[in-house]
Amino acid sequence: MFEVKNIEDTNLAENPVIAQMSKYDHEQLLFCNDNATGLKAIIAVHNTVLGPALGGTRMWTYNNEMEALNDVLRLSRGMTYKNSISGLNLGGGKAVIIGDARSMKSEALFRRFGKFVNSLGGKYITAEDVGISPVDMTWVSMETNHVVGLPGKSGDPSPVTAHGTYVGMKACAKEQFGSDSLNGKKIAVQGVGHVGEYLVEALAKEGAEIYISDIHEPTLKRVSETYGAKVVGLDEIYDIDMDIYAPCALGATVNDETLSRLKCSIIAGAANNQLQNEIIHGQAVMERGMIYAPDFALNAGGVINCYSEVKGLSSEWAMGKAEEIYGTISNIVKRSVAENVPTYQIANKMAEERIASIGKVKLPL
Ligand code: NAD
Repeated sequence: MFEVKNIEDTNLAENPVIAQMSKYDHEQLLFCNDNATGLKAIIAVHNTVLGPALGGTRMWTYNNEMEALNDVLRLSRGMTYKNSISGLNLGGGKAVIIGDARSMKSEALFRRFGKFVNSLGGKYITAEDVGISPVDMTWVSMETNHVVGLPGKSGDPSPVTAHGTYVGMKACAKEQFGSDSLNGKKIAVQGVGHVGEYLVEALAKEGAEIYISDIHEPTLKRVSETYGAKVVGLDEIYDIDMDIYAPCALGATVNDETLSRLKCSIIAGAANNQLQNEIIHGQAVMERGMIYAPDFALNAGGVINCYSEVKGLSSEWAMGKAEEIYGTISNIVKRSVAENVPTYQIANKMAEERIASIGKVKLPL
């Protein structure tokens, strides 16, 4: 079994590739090259004990191949934990395409990539990630059926992600305040894009006092007027008097600088990688008496939506499954208190325990 480690703690510069794969128990790496289309990609399958490895494809201008390799190893492992803690029969995988998403895209490149995905025979299922559009994925799908999130299929995951975030936030409130009602609670939502706006809508319905920030002025104005949310500055958001901080834009906003300013007692938002350093800031949050809802457990609605597509299940099923995030977050917080261990570590342990337990009845694919 792979050990609980800081998810960032992967440094290929110091280790040969197979040693690095072995360190975190990665099952398989597929290096893809095609000179005719310019495709250079890496597909990482971290763990398939629970089912096929699902995770998006990212296109990025990595400075070098080692950086791309580090990224795909780290991200695929993260997907194993996310899929496991969410109770899905999915393993963890990820793919990276090395190159400039603005200038290097072509139908031929993505179809070639699709052939590589297909060569894994369903062990890896891909989806959109940073730098990839629905059109790109449509090209991939011409060569493989192992793609989810295509236009006209399960659709925008954001409502499901926002719902899971909302119920998980309520679970935190129950543990911290004794009631899961968010009525009258001061909640700051950083970023009111796809997920943030749906979250604000749910919070407004429940009578929360909402504060919002966003770099995009027109969105900020529209969301503020529609839901009666108060606008705060991009930096001011860390200083306001609030009960709950909900990061729904950027990663790493929980760090040394912001922790000395944040007055909330709950951190629960949809953004990925909210703790700048899991070990340092996961501990610091706990020592301040704050509850941090581990992001990969709280924002699992997106992957739940993908899973519904893989299994041919309805959007109602996806919303229902996202409701289970309430129970998952409650269990994480209760165990964190009982064991005096930061919530993110408990979430990692719970994900690993599920894989270990199912691993007794199933072999990797
Ligand atoms: P989005 O791009 O639609 O929204 C992000 C919003 O944040 C935008 O409105 C943007 O203007 C704003 N923003 C950017 N920088 C900001 C800053 N410094 N301060 C305040 N606002 C800022 O993205 P999204 O789909 O709503 O996703 C939000 C977060 O949730 C991301 O971190 C994403 O990785 C994560 N997430 C999303 C899903 C999903 O289903 N969409 C699933 C899992 C995780």
